[in-house]
Amino acid sequence: MKAFISTTSFLKPQNAAAKALAESFFDEVTYNELGVPLKGDEILSRLEGCDAYIAGVDYITADVIEKMPQSVKVISRYGVGVDRVDLAAAKARGITVTNTPGANSTSVCELAFALMLAAARNIPQLHEAVSRGEWPRSEGMELAGKTLGIVGMGAIGKRLAVRAKAFEMDVMAYDPYFDEAFAAEHGIKRMELDDLLRAANVISLHVPLNDSTRHMIDAARIAEMQDGAIVINTARGGLIDEAAAAEAIRSGKLGGLGLDAFEQEPLVDSPLKDLPHVIFTPHTGAHTGEAVAKMGMMSVENAIAVLKGEPCRFILK
Ligand code: NAD
Repeated sequence: MKAFISTTSFLKPQNAAAKALAESFFDEVTYNELGVPLKGDEILSRLEGCDAYIAGVDYITADVIEKMPQSVKVISRYGVGVDRVDLAAAKARGITVTNTPGANSTSVCELAFALMLAAARNIPQLHEAVSRGEWPRSEGMELAGKTLGIVGMGAIGKRLAVRAKAFEMDVMAYDPYFDEAFAAEHGIKRMELDDLLRAANVISLHVPLNDSTRHMIDAARIAEMQDGAIVINTARGGLIDEAAAAEAIRSGKLGGLGLDAFEQEPLVDSPLKDLPHVIFTPHTGAHTGEAVAKMGMMSVENAIAVLKGEPCRFILK
């Protein structure tokens, strides 16, 4: 059997065990020598004769899936998000799609927390100023006693909630599939989305990107937020209307933005660039040694389980 692994993290030492497992199961394994997320023919030309496609954040559109070789039985996503995989097209072709939920949740949650702290205290801006030889006074905000609104209380949102409680924040959450037992155990208040956005001092997004969540943070909703609210997005670009958010930073309505995900990645041209109180990271939430190792191992195990016809808990419908 043959596998193509497009995730460039497989070439890191943390993924040595996952790579060894793949190379012991498959007769041939090829890797993504381009080192970037793949599109169209870049994917198709590398899948010839493959049974498994272990995929990073490639653009696996309906067109690509329809043209995939018959040999491909499983697309094993390394990561959680499947917004770049056309699940309906995969289903129509009889290709199983899996992902690695939970493997990177702690890493992403810790980045969200880091962005919250950095935005509350303007850490990157102060670092830049001190590096330039300046010694500015800065007016920050304590997180203790503030209200954190978590939109999407899944694997990452729950971890963030627990950490925020330890920081003495009041935590509220919105999720259509709200986990009442978890909320009761950790003292998290259930809210409707618009009420949460109106009440929170810090809002952190942890939902998938789909037609119902695209631009869920738009000009109208920002207008209803607390003055000086901080918005953190480590989920997906497209959840925030970036032009509206940029305008709200310029007007002072929003106090800060901490962003790891963008409508267009990499961030080349954006209304958010060169604005104060906006902190960028390059979609790096899952990039820790621990998450890389867990995602690598799970993505290989999922592909092998599907090909062997064994039970796999992470098949997407
Ligand atoms: P998850 O599936 O465990 O949780 C998502 C939660 O969102 C679920 O509880 C679901 O019920 C809820 N939800 C769905 N639609 C909603 C809506 N319209 N409003 C509110 N809640 C809604 O996923 P997760 O592992 O916690 O991941 C959350 C997000 O983080 C995803 O978008 C994922 O793609 C993204 N992510 C980003 C990185 C990164 O590198 N920055 C890494 C991993 C995951």
